[in-house]
Amino acid sequence: MGMSLADIRIVLVRTSHPGNIGACARAMKNMGLSRLSLVAGADECAPDAIARAAGADDLLVNAEKHTTLESALAGCVLVIGSSARERAIAWPALDPAEAAKQLVTKAEEGAVALVFGAERTGLSNEELDRCQFVVTIPADPAFSSLNLAAAVQVLAYEVYRAANARSPGQASAPPGARLATNTELQNYYEHLERVLVAIEFLDPDNPRKLMRRLTRLYNRAMPDANEINILRGILTEIERQLQKRSDTA
Ligand code: SAH
Repeated sequence: MGMSLADIRIVLVRTSHPGNIGACARAMKNMGLSRLSLVAGADECAPDAIARAAGADDLLVNAEKHTTLESALAGCVLVIGSSARERAIAWPALDPAEAAKQLVTKAEEGAVALVFGAERTGLSNEELDRCQFVVTIPADPAFSSLNLAAAVQVLAYEVYRAANARSPGQASAPPGARLATNTELQNYYEHLERVLVAIEFLDPDNPRKLMRRLTRLYNRAMPDANEINILRGILTEIERQLQKRSDTA
């Protein structure tokens, strides 16, 4: 089971300038990437976009369009968000080379995505919650935000290098151990949150911090689909026991 750079999705969220979308397509094509997904944002076939794509307009024509980030990430076994900013509660952080290595390795098991935010606002915390890791390109702390297409270029270059550095047959998962998809993980976190509220471990008035910490823990473990099934089974049993008690009370 080999990986191909075509399995790696570049997801642009709410891009406001068509020129940037075109420049991203060019940056991708230079590095052998072809799968561009757009969530809302500007017209990818506007004249500025075509001009800046400079021959990579096939990526624009074939771009997948989504109205939500969730649908752009459906089925992904690994999602990495990119951000220039330091966050109050850190998501597990990777440097560009580590992020590229993860993407190339996990692309053998399913679709993987690298997500970029809008020019002015970047990715929101809620959007980063959909990501297992955050990658930051090291830059001058006084001026650390790169142009969107420049950020795509740096990370696409690292992916290209990682793909070419990889020797065949290395470190692929044992058969049957398919990694959980983003959707499976999100469903698990939602189930976990419901149960934690039900057992009064989680205070619904202040839920975010705990769930982010737990998400971080589970994401570090990179659970496979069977493991997520076991965890879901435990939650279902807790709910059944709670129900039994409230019925007999
Ligand atoms: N003011 C925004 C910057 C957005 S730049 C912010 O503070 O987040 C547009 C996008 O380019 C970002 O959302 C991110 O995906 C990417 N980007 C820019 N600079 C980056 C950096 N140093 N490291 C990683 N991604 C970066």
